Parts: sequence; C-alpha cells; structure tokens
Amino acid sequence: MSVPLRPAWVEIDLDRLAENFRRIRADLPRPVRLLYVLKDEAYGQGAPEAARVALGHGADELAVYTLDEALALRRTGIQAPILLLGERVPPELPACLEHNLVPGIGSLEIASTFDRLAGRAGRRAPIQVKVNTGMNRFGFPWREVAHWAPALASLPSLQVTGVFGHFAQSDETDKSFAREQLAHFDATVAALLAAGIPACRRHHANSGGFLDLPESHLDLVRLGILPLGVYPSSVCRRIPGLAPVMSVKALVTAVQTLPPGDTVGYGMRWRADRPSRIAVLPLGYGDGFPRVRNEGQVLLRGRRVPIVGGVTMDALMVDITELPEVRPGDEAVLLGRQGDMEITVQELATLKRSVTYDVLVGWRARLPRRYLGGIDRT
Ligand SMILES: *Cc1c(COP(=O)(O)O)cnc(C)c1O
Repeated sequence: MSVPLRPAWVEIDLDRLAENFRRIRADLPRPVRLLYVLKDEAYGQGAPEAARVALGHGADELAVYTLDEALALRRTGIQAPILLLGERVPPELPACLEHNLVPGIGSLEIASTFDRLAGRAGRRAPIQVKVNTGMNRFGFPWREVAHWAPALASLPSLQVTGVFGHFAQSDETDKSFAREQLAHFDATVAALLAAGIPACRRHHANSGGFLDLPESHLDLVRLGILPLGVYPSSVCRRIPGLAPVMSVKALVTAVQTLPPGDTVGYGMRWRADRPSRIAVLPLGYGDGFPRVRNEGQVLLRGRRVPIVGGVTMDALMVDITELPEVRPGDEAVLLGRQGDMEITVQELATLKRSVTYDVLVGWRARLPRRYLGGIDRT
C-alpha cells in the first residue's frame, strides 16, 4: 500500500522555474555565464529537481555551500561544474578532488593543503579564489593581495579557474559600498594577473548585483533567489514575467462551531465575540510556519481569512465565520496565489520578522514537496 499524501505540502512549480530561467537568460548579456546557487536545497525547493531545470534552461554552472550538498547532486548524476562557496576544512579536500568539485579557497593554508593533495594524485586541481572585498566573512583580504597572490601562484598543482567576491549590500538604493567593493575586486584581479594568475572567470554579482549593477556582471553572475521568482528587495529592478515558484497549501481537516465567549488554542488568546466557525489547517510552526498569534492570514475560497489564537506546532486555526461555504477538504493557500488573491513571501517574512530568504528555506523537511511540471526531469 502506498503512503497517502499528507494534507499539507510545499508546491514547487518546475515549469515556472524553467520560465524564470528563460527570462533571466534573455535579460543577461550573452557572454555572461549564469551560475545557479542552490545551497540549502535550492532555498527549500529541492536541489536535484531545481538543478535539472536550471541546467536545462540557461544555467551553466552550480554552486552550493557544503560538501554534502555537492555530493548529493553528484549522486543524482549531475555532471555540471559545481563551485563550493564557504570555507573548507582539510578533511573535506580529498572528496573535492575525487568528485570534481571546485572549492572556493580563501586562505593559503587550505590552498597549500589542496595543492599537496593534488600533487600526490598527479593532478592539477581547479580552484576558485575567494576574495574578501568588504563583506568580511570569507576570503583572502583584498588589502593583502601583494602578500598572498605570489604565494598562491607558486603552488604547482593548483589551477585558478576563477576569482570572486561577494556584495555586502547590492539590493538597496544606495550602491556606494557595492561600488567600493567592485573597485577593490578590480584591483585584486589586476594584482593576481601581475603575480601570474590570470582570472578566467571573474564574478561578484548575486541577484541584487545582476539586477541593479551591470558593471558587476563581469564574466558570470551567481543567482540564488531571483530564479525562484522572488526579488532580493522591494527596490531593485524588475524583470517582466518572473513569478514565484513556491506555494504552501493545506486542506481544511476540521471545522469547529463556537458559541460567543469560547476561546481558541493554547493560552486562550482569542475569544469569539459572535457565533463563530473555525477551520483547522494541519500544519504549524513545526513545519516552518511563523509562530504568530492572532496575526496573519491564509486564502480560502479566494478570500483572506485571519489566523486566530496561536499557531501550534502541528496546526493553525482560522476564522471562517464570513465564509459559511467552507468545508473539510477545502484547499487553503498559506503562501502563493488563489484566484485573484496572493500571500507573498514578503508578507510571511514580515510575520516572521525576518527576510524572504528565511521564509523560503524555513519550511521543514516533514512538510512534503509536491512538484508540478518539469517534463525535462528525465
Ligand atoms: C547565496 C549566495 C549567492 C546568491 O545570492 P542571491 O541573493 O540569492 O542571488 C551568491 N553568492 C554567494 C557567495 C552566496 O552565498
């Protein structure tokens, strides 16, 4: 017997993802390569599925953060170039070599360890040089390039196939710090060249940089959130026709009828002031829904209805008194569109007191993913 589907799920529209990639590709000047950043399960969409669609519709390369993420992609048969963002620790390096992963390297210690390893294997191993241009997280410090560039150039078994930096702020109206970072990056690339390291792939742009800083496109852009149809901020440039890939839905599993004065949920924080009907949706903060109380809305029968009481770990309750036609089995939308109405990622981010990225990756693994479309998934 097959296991029945849980009546609450994340829906991923792979045809929509493909269309977003087509539109982004059409917007991007031809010679610029497109690297799809699909860390953390492609921001919650499911990495192997998203990778296949991306590679079939305009992405040239992939990047993830952890070794596990990269190996999982290789295990599903994906052969495309994979760049590892973030810092590596020495025990991870042999697997990079073995599985043809390109580590982004930001220290001489890791570079020389990888060099010795590649040398012993009789290989010349590709790496990309990660430059700290002002984010102050990972990478070789741009100010000290005169020190580390010659040392890097002297390592015989490494081949530098790219140089990259990362913006601390690219999606706000004020681009002045982003431009400073780009100037530091240009100077670093020039110093690397002088040290004998030609930078075949220079990249610094994330979605914000791609949208708003054409001078940051260089040889390649690294996009994570934009292909999902979600903008990094409310102020950056729009690409016509992009639309969100992810929705979250649930079926009404119970309807309670309350007399005035009854309360709903833990702590009895919502009280009916009229005869009320309450619909129960079978997902809660244990699935990644924001843990709000008497705040937020969902869509039912094409209308917005308010969440009442506190969201529990496994369920949340909504007031459907105004919608007498709602029945158990009706489909509710917690993120995404229903009819003319939409709950946006930004709306949930505001509820969660966080950012859109956090909402996308925040759906927990126990909430199943259902995929729509994706005929290219062969
Ligand atoms: C996550 C990430 C990206 C993608 O950023 P988006 O804003 O999602 O496009 C690009 N580069 C690095 C280094 C990242 O960590």
